[in-house]
Amino acid sequence: MIELEGLTKRYGDTVAVDRLTFTVRPGVVTGFLGPNGAGKSTTMRMILGLDHPTAGDVRIDGRHYDRLKDPLTYIGALLDAKAVHGGRSAYNHLLCLAQSNGIPERRVAEVLDTVGLTSVARKKAKGFSLGMGQRLGIAGALLGDPRILMFDEPVNGLDPEGIHWIRTLMKSLAAQGRTVFVSSHLMSEMALTAEHLVVIGQGRLLADTSMADFIRQNSRSYVRIRSPQRERLLDVLHEAGITAVQAGGGALEVEGDKAERIGELAARSGFVLHELSPRQASLEEAFMRLTADAVEYHAHSRPDPAPQDWGAGWKGA
Ligand code: ADP
Ligand code: MG
Repeated sequence: MIELEGLTKRYGDTVAVDRLTFTVRPGVVTGFLGPNGAGKSTTMRMILGLDHPTAGDVRIDGRHYDRLKDPLTYIGALLDAKAVHGGRSAYNHLLCLAQSNGIPERRVAEVLDTVGLTSVARKKAKGFSLGMGQRLGIAGALLGDPRILMFDEPVNGLDPEGIHWIRTLMKSLAAQGRTVFVSSHLMSEMALTAEHLVVIGQGRLLADTSMADFIRQNSRSYVRIRSPQRERLLDVLHEAGITAVQAGGGALEVEGDKAERIGELAARSGFVLHELSPRQASLEEAFMRLTADAVEYHAHSRPDPAPQDWGAGWKGA
């Protein structure tokens, strides 16, 4: 279990993590979701004692990271896959980690096998592809057979096979009763992996909910309509008690599953329809809505583009 209480980190004027309070529980994959710059990596570094909180507290099974004896046997983490010493072989890299953490040497071969690196165990890590480096980082996280695992954007830059492998591994670790906490800036990725969701934006907690509830609350079905007789169609819909709102591209949108009813109404009134399509708002859209302020903040914090850039932008638009 990982418990955060009012966890806060400031870098000068930047509030990277803002009074985060939540608990990561065992037995499920918990997705830690937020746009780039939301504060996910900073939070994870504080969990591991690599960064000191400005305020608040974070505990692993009730204790601070630096109070854990042989911490790798409590919590394993993949933060930055490139942080491996490139000159060592995969085997020796893991052996050093094991020896400095009171972990028996036999675990090295075991975790190399788990991540599928046995055949390249004696090869230097600097020759490894991104995917192999990622697997080696995960081997390090698994070395101490910890009850808690934490992965920061583990699928970034991986091919579909690597992504599938990591997703399957995280689910099986959770199914063994472990606590699995994994960050991503992609809702689509989390939807396939996580059972529970913690969403942050600008360092602040925006949602702490089961994935099922998040989907239920955010899957919006609606109907998109286009007609050359839009204004009159609006009146007819209004008379029938159907509220339509104007959407982009001259279209109208109506909440809910009303395509058939709208089609019949239109036919009875002799309207021409160019489009009548039932739609489902994606989880990605729900995530974007939820974190819109955070995204806006980052758009504004970018330096102003030069005037010629504006010109090019307008022409392109
Ligand atoms: P995420 O992992 O969600 O993309 P980060 O935790 O990396 O977000 O960053 C959160 C915010 O804190 C960003 O605005 C980032 O620029 C800032 N930040 C992170 N680390 C530092 C640091 N060492 N010094 C100054 N600002 C930092
Ligand atoms: Mg990050």
